[in-house]
Amino acid sequence: MNMISNHMPTAELQALDAAHHMHPFTTNNELAEKGARVITRAKGVTLTDSEGNDILDAMAGLWCVNLGYGRPELAEAAMRQMQELPYYNTFFMTTHVPAIALSAKLAELAPGNLNHTFFAGSGSEANDTNIRMVRTYWAELGKPEKKVIIARHNGYHGSSVGSASLGGMKPMHAQGGLPIPDMHHIGQPYWYGEGGDKSPEEFGLERAQELEAAINELGEDRVAAFIAEPIQGAGGVIIPPSTYWPEIQRICEKYEILLIADEVICGFGRTGNWFGSQTFGIRPDIMTIAKGLSSGYAPIGGSIVSDEVAKVMDACEFVHGYTYSGHPVACAVALENLRILEEEKIVEKAGAETAPYLKEKWQGLADHPLVGEAVIEGLMGSIALTPDKASRAAFAADAGTAGYVVREACFANSLVMRHTGDRMVISPPLVITKSEVDTLVERAWRALDFAHKKLSDDGLMKAA
Ligand SMILES: *Cc1c(COP(=O)(O)O)cnc(C)c1O
Repeated sequence: MNMISNHMPTAELQALDAAHHMHPFTTNNELAEKGARVITRAKGVTLTDSEGNDILDAMAGLWCVNLGYGRPELAEAAMRQMQELPYYNTFFMTTHVPAIALSAKLAELAPGNLNHTFFAGSGSEANDTNIRMVRTYWAELGKPEKKVIIARHNGYHGSSVGSASLGGMKPMHAQGGLPIPDMHHIGQPYWYGEGGDKSPEEFGLERAQELEAAINELGEDRVAAFIAEPIQGAGGVIIPPSTYWPEIQRICEKYEILLIADEVICGFGRTGNWFGSQTFGIRPDIMTIAKGLSSGYAPIGGSIVSDEVAKVMDACEFVHGYTYSGHPVACAVALENLRILEEEKIVEKAGAETAPYLKEKWQGLADHPLVGEAVIEGLMGSIALTPDKASRAAFAADAGTAGYVVREACFANSLVMRHTGDRMVISPPLVITKSEVDTLVERAWRALDFAHKKLSDDGLMKAA
């Protein structure tokens, strides 16, 4: 075979891709018809495809490229580490400097007494670690029956068997026999979609109290932990009402249920603070991290656990780990990413300067006739599409039909904005400039105009 490179014609690359590459979360036959877009390079917030088009990436890849694309320092850190020590494990009474340095750095950055990191290769793996860790924790304390983990409908915690069981995505549970036993799901704090006539505050409290009801129903002696994202990401950037997290915290403390904050998206600056837990005043026992930890330049995740949890876990052999737990190259890249985020004050600037600017522009989209609400916290935001603003109605067409039309219109307008159902979501690199924010919102508005016309022409602006 000839060398496959960026210089091959797009159609040839697409044909090879269709013939051999199985894409995640994709109907591959449909993609093969259409041809995958081939991304060839990226810089800052801008992607370039094989046809030479520049596209503003308002998703930071998959919520991960917090630092923006094309920072040579991270490539140099990877090269240095590969030359010095490309791999060694941390299973057999051994360690290495990148894992030491990164775990110490995370202890410094993480709030409260979260001072101990168990490394994984991804967010899914880290949440699998959490399932086994919280159950082992209670077993070590003589309460092996405390096994149930409470999570939420429409939460996302990854795609492995364990993490997808924690997640509350119905289409994922429908494939492969999920969830695993001893998982329990409660309602999400999604006021716009499910709050009806209640005020957001009333509804937030009510949804938090579902946790207390579930604990009472299952029995306190059977519940190990509650897991949630500070802000649901893949579920549609659902920002909980202000009453939600304080009540969840109260309930976890009252019943001594471990609280796991899945910070895979919210961590490392996304909400304008280092962690979403700081934005919402959450005091978790465990935080799941991945994505922004390395800005996506290398695959790495982990669980940062409290002194109390570590004290119990450290007294037993946790028969668990991944070949690539604490991979030295991934740790070196993550360290360099954190160094730059800190030294260039990227998180602080994103929170204090970019976020308020983006918020004002983003909320302006709520004036568009296709938009029911526009919400944002830090640099993660969403809009709800609706055929009827006044009633917050859903579309009569299948969920995701309108969202797909808007997403395609965004692509046609050189903007990556993702849809989950009929919510459009953004999560741009933290380094996005004010003028790039202007471009983002202009293109989003144009895409909404185009999609609105198409949905009207196709007779799809009908309420369910
Ligand atoms: C992406 C994501 C995960 C899974 O991380 P992977 O690295 O894809 O395995 C877990 N939790 C949340 C909140 C996520 O957004």
